[in-house]
Amino acid sequence: QGSRTFHPKDTIIRLPHTQIGGKNFTLMAGPCSVESEEHVQRMAAVAREGGATVLRGGAFKPRTSPYSFQGLGEKGLRFLREAADENGMDVITEVMDESHVPLVAQYTDVFQIGARNMQNFSLLKAVGKTQIPVALKRGMSGTVDDLLNASEYIASGGNHNIMLIERGIRTFDNKYTRNTFDLAAVPVLQKLTHYPVIVDPSHAVGVWDLVAPMAYAGAASGASGMIVEIHDAPDHAFSDGPQALKPDTYLKMAQHVFDLRRLMDAWEG
Ligand code: PEP
Ligand code: MN
Repeated sequence: QGSRTFHPKDTIIRLPHTQIGGKNFTLMAGPCSVESEEHVQRMAAVAREGGATVLRGGAFKPRTSPYSFQGLGEKGLRFLREAADENGMDVITEVMDESHVPLVAQYTDVFQIGARNMQNFSLLKAVGKTQIPVALKRGMSGTVDDLLNASEYIASGGNHNIMLIERGIRTFDNKYTRNTFDLAAVPVLQKLTHYPVIVDPSHAVGVWDLVAPMAYAGAASGASGMIVEIHDAPDHAFSDGPQALKPDTYLKMAQHVFDLRRLMDAWEG
């Protein structure tokens, strides 16, 4: 159902404040985790100032260690929703478990399926039974075809509001970067499917000073949008501090990304 061959036109996902896909370029930003009401409000204002129209933030966190911060749960969803509403933004947040789908649905505009859940087929089927847009992340060991097949589990349930996120994969050399950013996957996916393709340079590289260069490369790859993590005190972040952009770095990066996309639109005339 996601195949370009049978459906040549780009899918456009319509959120209350944002259209994703086609000629649009959508910036999504926010902290990795929702940490507190005040913090997510502050980060939402920064995200919006940089031109982001979708606020990210995890309330249910898929941590590698069970002893790491697991998220604020429903309280986090409420703080995230309120912060987005105050800034005229839409919400994207991760749903980790099939049983949480109805709860997360009450607060979010987009379900994020994390890399670790790309092939959690019962979760994919559960979000596929809703009409809420789904952002499906490529698993760290997932091939392009694995990602496309995973998206079919959502589409075959009747939900065609799907976007795909390239967030880096594991390769033989991940010493200096958390993952390897597979940028060629962007035009490859665009050739194979009509779904919007989004890049996530934050999780792809895992270190803040590499995020901006890869954000520019991601924008230049022709992706329909980008999702980035920001934090005003990365050393104290509850999760993913090392890859978080501080507000001033984020604002500069965002401006360059939009400038770059305007330039690219002009090339196409
Ligand atoms: C996240 O978005 O914070 C996250 C956990 O991403 P991923 O699933 O790509 O690791
Ligand atoms: Mn994160």
